[in-house]
Amino acid sequence: MAIDMSALTGSPVEKVLFRGHEIHVKRDDLLGLRETETSAFNGNKARKLYYYLQNSWPDIDGIISCGSAQSNMLYSLSVLASLKGWSLDFYVDHVPGQLKKHPLGNYAGALSRGARIHSVSELKDSVVRRSPTEYVEQHLLPGLSGKLYIPEGGGHSCSEPGLQQLASEIKAWVQSNHIENPKLMLPSGTGTTALYLQKHLPFEVLTCACVGGQDYLRQQMLGLSLDTEHSPTILESPDIGAKKYHFGQLYPEFYLLWQEIREQTGITFELLYDPLGWLTMMRYLELATESVNMVYLHQGGLLGNQSMLPRYERKKR
Ligand SMILES: *Cc1c(COP(=O)(O)O)cnc(C)c1O
Repeated sequence: MAIDMSALTGSPVEKVLFRGHEIHVKRDDLLGLRETETSAFNGNKARKLYYYLQNSWPDIDGIISCGSAQSNMLYSLSVLASLKGWSLDFYVDHVPGQLKKHPLGNYAGALSRGARIHSVSELKDSVVRRSPTEYVEQHLLPGLSGKLYIPEGGGHSCSEPGLQQLASEIKAWVQSNHIENPKLMLPSGTGTTALYLQKHLPFEVLTCACVGGQDYLRQQMLGLSLDTEHSPTILESPDIGAKKYHFGQLYPEFYLLWQEIREQTGITFELLYDPLGWLTMMRYLELATESVNMVYLHQGGLLGNQSMLPRYERKKR
């Protein structure tokens, strides 16, 4: 099947106004492959998987990966697998009961594309508690052939070509629009995206840790690169009320901010990473002593909102 790779590059940059600040949004959420009715194969994961999609893999007939049952990566890998005619075996710790009963969002999308989702915590031989990554690396990788192993989050050098392409688009936009003192902001999970963008951009990349705090993020980035010259700046996130922040938990402040951004900018962001990204960016802009031209990277992932929104609705009741 011919894949229109041009639909996976060249997203537009849009200028919006939020709380009186001018912000340029790089709309990677608008990437997409028309022939797959999957506008959801976009953003961050489309960039990271670009390399796999672009190349041919004559000896491969399947993908093995792991992560969370609600992740954008699970869904995006299922799209990649179906485009390539491959199988997908995806290892998770467990599938939440509610999701199993009523599949939706990324999980439902992956199932409908034939993904096989395995719960490591329910495997018969699971005497010792292992993470999905440990399970895959100990039991499946030795002697593996005919399958591609894509680690959790896609976090390794195969993500670099797609992210280098993204950096070159941002650089070209900055140059042709004569943008002075540009900075790029994006929220991080593993930090793979921020790290490779900083490596290929001549100006500062700002990020914040959405999963497991600043130290975890620094460790993840060190694991990808020993070259600390290209590290993005990890901003401290402001407190959210009096509560401690945990990835994936619901915060009314996040939901309200998400709504306010949507009302003022007309753009829908996702609910896991973007609220903390915007909160951190707004604090930075409020404290900035110089004039900054901020570019915010919209990393897509809107299919995940299908499982986040009902959770917020249930919480409100
Ligand atoms: C995967 C993802 C991230 C995190 O990307 P990392 O490279 O792991 O930091 C952020 N936002 C969205 C929408 C994602 O899908």
